[in-house]
Amino acid sequence: MKVNPAYKTKEDLVKLYNTPLLELMYQAATIHREFHDPNEVQMSSLLSIKTGGCPEDCGYCPQAARYHTDVDTHKLMSVETVVEQAKNAKANGSSRLCMGAAWRNIRDNRDFDNVIQMVQAVNNLDMEVCCTLGMMTDEQAERLKNAGLYAYNHNLDTSEDYYDDVISTREYQDRLKTIDNAKNAGISVCSGGIIGMGESVEDRMGLLMSYMKMDTPPESIPINALVAVEGTPMEDQKPVEIWEMVRMVATTRIVFPESVVRLSAGRTSMSKEGQAMCFMAGASSIFAGDKLLTTPNPEFNEDKELFDILGLKPKAAFADGDRPESKPDAIIEEKKKKAAEREKELAEARKERGEFSPRKVVTAK
Ligand code: SF4
Repeated sequence: MKVNPAYKTKEDLVKLYNTPLLELMYQAATIHREFHDPNEVQMSSLLSIKTGGCPEDCGYCPQAARYHTDVDTHKLMSVETVVEQAKNAKANGSSRLCMGAAWRNIRDNRDFDNVIQMVQAVNNLDMEVCCTLGMMTDEQAERLKNAGLYAYNHNLDTSEDYYDDVISTREYQDRLKTIDNAKNAGISVCSGGIIGMGESVEDRMGLLMSYMKMDTPPESIPINALVAVEGTPMEDQKPVEIWEMVRMVATTRIVFPESVVRLSAGRTSMSKEGQAMCFMAGASSIFAGDKLLTTPNPEFNEDKELFDILGLKPKAAFADGDRPESKPDAIIEEKKKKAAEREKELAEARKERGEFSPRKVVTAK
């Protein structure tokens, strides 16, 4: 992944962002055509596999336990439910499933073992699998990679300078570390931000500067417009103007020509024309399905209509990289082995005591 060498400083980026809009769109569209097929848009589905009850205090997020929002909390979904949802998303044109859990960080427990099995199962459906599970150690990244994870999402959200106005329960550096752990494990990185949280244009460009400073910028950069949810500290923020969204998408496209720019949260309040302008400005991916974790999103049918009007086609899975192989997970295999040994010991102990194992009852048809 490359950074456009024409831009070096935050001032360069601010100047670019403030270029007359049609000129900015023209430059972005030109670069977009050089590096991407402008008629292809990737459809990803975002599935909340564990909702609400998060101990963090991200000011925009209805899933933080400390805010009083209408989110229906649920514990981790079963592997079977996730597979069912993945099949449905695939049938509707999605080539990537992103599974999100409202966790501060991944913990090495049974829930994580289940997520590993979800990754294996969805990868075996020939879909790109992405996870967003909070902070992650390098060992956890290795396990996910081994299970067949294609991408890990971990947003920086905003500039380092504005970060403390949004979140106080963890540091910017923590986020950078998780991104590094994903990269070191060979997982594709998806990381972007949210506009409309009260930040300045300098902060928006500060976010892009954080990615410019990396050895390699993220393969995927989601641009979200804040969905101001009642009960969160940002409930009164004004909606983002479509022009700001187009400028942010176009600037990101120009600065990171090879990355996928994702038009993410906030699409329900954009017109078809507004979304078309974002595609023109270099967005090459959307999230599909009626929910984005917990906030509303256009339904599959509406997106199909939009794609038909604009003559867009959904991008195939693994167009930008090979499908990872799902290998057996050493920790889960060890646990299974121990459980089988324990079961055998118990059966032998029952036999010694002269007890019989419960017989299976076969009923006549
Ligand atoms: S954005 Fe993620 S980490 Fe922050 S409160 Fe929401 S679920 Fe928790």
